[in-house]
Amino acid sequence: MATARCESCADFLVFTLSPDDDDPNPSSSAPATIPDDLALPCGCHFHWQCLLDKSASITATLTCPNCASYLPSGGPSSSSSSSTAAQPTPSILTHYTNEGGVQPSLDIYPTLLEESFLSANPSARPARAFHTLAAEGEVQGMVELLTDLSSPDSDSDDDDVTPLTPAQLLAWRDPLNGLRSALHVALEAGQEEAVWLLLWLGSAAKGEDFPGAVVEVARGLGLPRRGEGILAGGGEDVRFVRDERGRSAEDVCLELGAPWTRLVEGGLFT
Ligand SMILES: [Zn+2]
Ligand SMILES: [Zn+2]
Repeated sequence: MATARCESCADFLVFTLSPDDDDPNPSSSAPATIPDDLALPCGCHFHWQCLLDKSASITATLTCPNCASYLPSGGPSSSSSSSTAAQPTPSILTHYTNEGGVQPSLDIYPTLLEESFLSANPSARPARAFHTLAAEGEVQGMVELLTDLSSPDSDSDDDDVTPLTPAQLLAWRDPLNGLRSALHVALEAGQEEAVWLLLWLGSAAKGEDFPGAVVEVARGLGLPRRGEGILAGGGEDVRFVRDERGRSAEDVCLELGAPWTRLVEGGLFT
């Protein structure tokens, strides 16, 4: 159906699945393809990844890498006299078709901004992934990611990237999300298990301040406390990390109200 081609790599706007992905019967057919067509407001089409590869230039110039049209909706600021005023965050509304269907007005700007930041700061990539897991309450994934960080791949080609240590990652503040730490993220997402995990690993809160069930699980899994094992060397105590608005985890609990205020009343933050 789609005959347009990607303005970056000139291929058709499909994504070819490798034969062993999701195919229980690999010899049965030609490689499967799924749509991958991102149309910009100017009418130029790109593969998702091809556009992301140009994220640094697009976020810097806000123009199409192919035809140089100005991309944010609303067009360029109409009155030149106000050009020194703070600009609102732009949005770039695209029409994206992939295997999940059609998203008729997907704002691609936040994704481009994130990609551009991560290309310039590759060591933040695992930290961003860790925050996503915290928001989803994927505690097993969080532990695996920390364990992987503690034994960096010797054959990694990212030689100039200094990876974060597990202790640094626990207290890392996300510049793309109001300088929140993973604990801020887990609290705001209401992910209780992730909250307890982060406090166990990243704080000096006393063992007796944790619920018995949490202690049992943490000991059962052999999870270290701050300063032990893979967390040797310590790091900032996650309880006292403040976000852009100056909020510690305790402040977030008080903002959220019950049941989170129980953590404050239980003396965890003192
Ligand atoms: Zn392409
Ligand atoms: Zn264009």
